[in-house]
Amino acid sequence: MNWNDKIAKQVSDIPRSGIREFFDLVTGRSDIISLGVGEPDFVTPWHIREAAIYSLEQGRTTYTSNYGLESLRQSIVKYVKGFFDVEYNPANEVLVTVGVSEAIDIALRAILNPGDEVLYHEPCYVSYAPSVNMAYGVAKAVPTSKKDLFALNPEVLAKAITPKTKVLMLNFPTNPTGAVAPLETLKAIAELCIKHDLIVITDEIYSELRYDDEKHVSIASLPGMKERTLLLHGFSKAFAMTGFRLGYACGPEPLISAMMKIHQYSMLCAPIMSQEAAIEALEHGTPAMLKMRESYRQRRNYLVKRLNDMGLDCHLPGGAFYVFPDISKFGLSSKEFATRLLMEKQVAAVPGTAFGESGEGFLRCCYATAFEQIQEACDRMESFVKSL
Ligand code: PLP
Repeated sequence: MNWNDKIAKQVSDIPRSGIREFFDLVTGRSDIISLGVGEPDFVTPWHIREAAIYSLEQGRTTYTSNYGLESLRQSIVKYVKGFFDVEYNPANEVLVTVGVSEAIDIALRAILNPGDEVLYHEPCYVSYAPSVNMAYGVAKAVPTSKKDLFALNPEVLAKAITPKTKVLMLNFPTNPTGAVAPLETLKAIAELCIKHDLIVITDEIYSELRYDDEKHVSIASLPGMKERTLLLHGFSKAFAMTGFRLGYACGPEPLISAMMKIHQYSMLCAPIMSQEAAIEALEHGTPAMLKMRESYRQRRNYLVKRLNDMGLDCHLPGGAFYVFPDISKFGLSSKEFATRLLMEKQVAAVPGTAFGESGEGFLRCCYATAFEQIQEACDRMESFVKSL
């Protein structure tokens, strides 16, 4: 069979992930230090793993409610109220999903009609544009810049809104820049969303991982925003639970119930042992999470200082576990810089362009890796920069 014209166009049009493309070069090489993949180097805290083991031991191996275990939804509502100061009804305003990834996908599929526009700030997480395209929407990047520390500038956003704009996607702290949005900025964005009647999807996956001692504010908590905002969160990053594949969506009942229609037929429910582990994480996981966060903070401070000392201009990001140094002065594209760093010094970092065109001139380095590895990577990068 000739498969060239058999695959759906909106799928065949999706380019390969810039991260994957780059990391194919790394596969099987043990001499390489990777600052590449955005995944905690910590193993899931023991008491959370134990909850999953206990669930299996008790023979709890069934489907759950499509919405997720009621006890988990109760814990989510309590946690979200405490952390974000937004209240949801566990019966119909919370959906447990297979990671934030599934939540993004089904939210967009539930909301978009063909041709509806979705705005998102860029550089951004690699899945946003493809997820919009797969839902037959039109993905429109709103560039952010170093001068704004990569927070979305409301004036730039205002200019990007058209009558076809239906959704704004936000992600603070941001992958790949570590950006956080100052409260005044969030308020101005909220005002625009109300004025233009936009739905907001806020991806809060890094919200516990803030290092600036400011209380994290979600746009969902601002006046007039809860009714138009879908708050997505999960366990992968702050609780080091990537492999558990668990997340959740909190939002207005009509949207949650539309997402639920897709979820029940495509996923049915999230794995029960992951859900049981997630209850443990929400109820008792904060001390372990704070310990990991302190370790990330130390690594961030070290890495940013070393990068600036070696001549790579790097702002101090407020959150997540990425730094985003400016490499433009060397006259190499992001991809050339990253490829040469990999080939000549065996350090893997991701070209900024993997996260959109506005990432040109930057490099993403993930510091969720052992401190000694970061030290060695910095030594190698310093020698690379000297050689340029
Ligand atoms: N959103 C952002 C911004 C991410 O960086 C990631 C993973 O890197 C995800 C979502 C995926 O999260 P999950 O593991 O919950 O699917």
